[in-house]
Amino acid sequence: MNDLLIAEDDEDIAAVLALMLQKTAMPISWVADGVAALETIVASPPAVLLTDIGMPGMGGWELIWAVRGHEHLAEIPIVVLTGYPWNVHTGAVEHGACAVLLKPCPGRELTDIVESLAARGSHAHCPTSTICLDPSNFSV
Ligand SMILES: [Zn+2]
Repeated sequence: MNDLLIAEDDEDIAAVLALMLQKTAMPISWVADGVAALETIVASPPAVLLTDIGMPGMGGWELIWAVRGHEHLAEIPIVVLTGYPWNVHTGAVEHGACAVLLKPCPGRELTDIVESLAARGSHAHCPTSTICLDPSNFSV
């Protein structure tokens, strides 16, 4: 139950992320699109979901909305990792993301945020809060 699920359609990026996140000591699973991610989450809810936005089929926002709208899955901590700066807007938290990171993201920042969210655990995600993380938990 303390595992991290990575939804990322680029296998090379997923491999780099998995390598960076080894420091968290969390078991890591990887899926290549939103549909596979949702199936995995329903079968076995991860401690933290790290998702890309642009993926074939079901993209990251659709995945996040599906998770947030699900009665048993809505409280999973979610980190968005995207290569498109236009996805980083004040509405990201409103749309269900606990944190938004831009590619390429330094490994330290990524690890700190994933660990902070794993430590916080399931929470009633508040769409109107400016940030889900307690900034004192990490040093970025
Ligand atoms: Zn949240």
